[in-house]
Amino acid sequence: MNERKPWYSPIGQSLSCETWETEALLRLLLNSLDPRVAERPDELIVYGGRGKAARDEQSLQQIIAQLKRLKRDETLLIQSGKPVGVFKTYEDAPRVISSTSMLVPAMATDAMFKSLEEKGLTMYGQATAASWSYIGVQGILQTTFETMGEIAARYFDDSLKGRIVLSSGLGGMGSAQPLSISMHGGVSIIVEIDEEKVNRRLLNNYCDIAVHSTKRAIELAQEAAELKQPLAIALIGNAPDVYREMLNLNFTPSIVTDQTAAHDLVDGYVPEGLTLEQANYLRKNKRKTYINLAQRSVVRHVKAMLEFQRREAVVFDYGNNIRGQAYKNGLERAFNIPNFVTQYIRPLYSEGRGPCRWIALSGSPSDIYAIDEKLLNRYAHDTRLQRWLTYVQNNLHFYGLPARTCWLNYEERIELGQILNDMVANGELQGPVAITRDHSEASTIAAPYRESEAMKDGSDSVADWPILLGMLNASAGASMVTIQHGGGVGIGNSIHTGMTVVADGTLAGAKKLERVLKMDPALSIIRLADAGYEKAQEMVRTHKLKKPL
Ligand code: NAD
Repeated sequence: MNERKPWYSPIGQSLSCETWETEALLRLLLNSLDPRVAERPDELIVYGGRGKAARDEQSLQQIIAQLKRLKRDETLLIQSGKPVGVFKTYEDAPRVISSTSMLVPAMATDAMFKSLEEKGLTMYGQATAASWSYIGVQGILQTTFETMGEIAARYFDDSLKGRIVLSSGLGGMGSAQPLSISMHGGVSIIVEIDEEKVNRRLLNNYCDIAVHSTKRAIELAQEAAELKQPLAIALIGNAPDVYREMLNLNFTPSIVTDQTAAHDLVDGYVPEGLTLEQANYLRKNKRKTYINLAQRSVVRHVKAMLEFQRREAVVFDYGNNIRGQAYKNGLERAFNIPNFVTQYIRPLYSEGRGPCRWIALSGSPSDIYAIDEKLLNRYAHDTRLQRWLTYVQNNLHFYGLPARTCWLNYEERIELGQILNDMVANGELQGPVAITRDHSEASTIAAPYRESEAMKDGSDSVADWPILLGMLNASAGASMVTIQHGGGVGIGNSIHTGMTVVADGTLAGAKKLERVLKMDPALSIIRLADAGYEKAQEMVRTHKLKKPL
């Protein structure tokens, strides 16, 4: 067991790096390992199964040391969580560039990755873990809020009042589910095998109540649904077992999904019939047996979801590749379950609307509230933004560096950098602000079982777009640019890119912000226009984006 002290980001005005730009990256790195933010900080695991921020303790120490001495015209290179070089570049170049979990395509299998990982040659970076931009549950909360909102609008008169949603997993991403379902007035039953995680979510008020019995969970859910009251129930149990028990009890929720970390059947998923303790024992001592059990279980798990679908629940895959795992293990019908991006999110991306996040480097919550107010006043016409910001302001606690995530449309995203940079320059905030995002938009990721599934032109597995975007963001002067493999849906299934840019109140900063925050969403619009999405083509024309052909 590691005895060292936990990591916390520095806060306040004094710098331990040469510039705020580099200081921002140092603070984001340490923030993502803060025990209030990360899932397993002792192992440098931030979220999403085993998504890490640095390869090992020595690499982390060296990254910190290198950032502290990095000059304003130097760039630090990170190879799968290990610092491997510092080069003199120029001030407008990124301060950190990284490539994580990349393998030659024909070798990009779980087995190969794990053997390289065991030799200490690579690291799994998930999405925002390796790009140091993870901000806890809030990051995914709004995507879940938007997804549930879209389902409510399409099938349930724009509200989840009186509806019961069944899902599983209360990990880093999964715990956004109960809260966002409650935000739409619905009742949730979320199955989680790890009681300690459940207790954490109760403490954070993401769940209202925890039970051990499926029957009790159903009773409570039905009572609340009848009263049209929101209620978030954590059911301590094993998801495939519970799903089948519910089918046997003839109970059909309105909506069914799953957010165990099933993209990784060994470290992220507990096979049916096992307790967490039994699973941990087998993982350590009988790995092959464990893999066999997990493969069989995931098939039965997805079969149960298909049966819920047959019984007319709205069923969807929530980005953990559970369908892909079941398909790989023989369940041909697995892809009859649709994916949340193609169904509910891609139409928003076509309009240039997408997730942004900003982090107050001062550590002061008042900075985030001041930005909220500015945006609420400026975008009074954007009702979704108004609903979201008002709700999170009143209901969400910060942990780690105060941060806000918000879906903004194309024009708002371009303006955001200017607004924040001016606020820093005018002394309206107590310190600079880092702006970053998830890896989910059209050009930020190629993931044929999730974000780029069922593209209109069939370009699902074309991975040039995230590579182009990474290079473009580096050319535009983003402070950190990452290119990664395997986030969300696992090794072999995705290539994606992250970026961070800093509003430090300077003129040079303003120029970088303007370039990066325009190009980053613009390439997603271009990618969708290129694939034939009409709304995106209209956006290209409206905003006079230069797109040959
Ligand atoms: P995590 O590892 O933090 O949490 C997974 C949780 O599932 C754990 O708490 C674990 O105890 C629980 N679990 C595993 N097997 C179980 C079982 N059989 N029954 C009940 N609980 C079980 O992972 P996370 O960060 O919450 O991510 C969840 C999944 O969502 C991952 O596959 C991730 O790649 C994917 N993901 C989705 C999105 C999205 O936009 N929807 C974004 C990023 C990642």
